[in-house]
Amino acid sequence: MVAASTIDQIVRVYREKGHRHYGENVTELEHALQTAEFASRAGESNQVVLSCLLHDYGHLLHDLGEQIAERGIDARHEELGARLLSEHFPPEIVEPTRLHVAAKRYLCWKHPHYYDGLSQASRMSLQIQGGPMSENEAREFEANPYYEIAVRVRHYDDLGKVQGMQTRDLEAYRELMLEFLIDPQS
Ligand code: FE
Repeated sequence: MVAASTIDQIVRVYREKGHRHYGENVTELEHALQTAEFASRAGESNQVVLSCLLHDYGHLLHDLGEQIAERGIDARHEELGARLLSEHFPPEIVEPTRLHVAAKRYLCWKHPHYYDGLSQASRMSLQIQGGPMSENEAREFEANPYYEIAVRVRHYDDLGKVQGMQTRDLEAYRELMLEFLIDPQS
């Protein structure tokens, strides 16, 4: 079954690389599970929950090491993740993941207090990601059909950094991945 092997492959990436830290108090796997958990507890749709789970997939797939923002490196992880995810999932799952960094830059423009609530790592990476959007960039962002979902994903992303939080395991999301997989039989 191609579908099962695609999901196995994604699960394996999280199992093998998810222990990485990227400047937060949690591992990549904990962060993914917490982000999805917060979305699910808030009553978000399966679409949003799955985007939340996968939003940092690209962080697991570069080999630039950990705490890269501290070293002034922008891995463009959102683009890398989106490119790989788009082989398996439709735009309604992939585009919010591609836009979750833009959503942070947008929210810094829209609500200047939003910046104050960001983790130290997020503030540091903001600088190398281009800082807050300009008004023109923000208007362009608002014209993207996925921008509102991206902003919601961003909200749960910002919450999912809790040390020691209990969440469901990755295995609990297999069915959700299967639900959205493009052409599971191909
Ligand atoms: Fe994240």
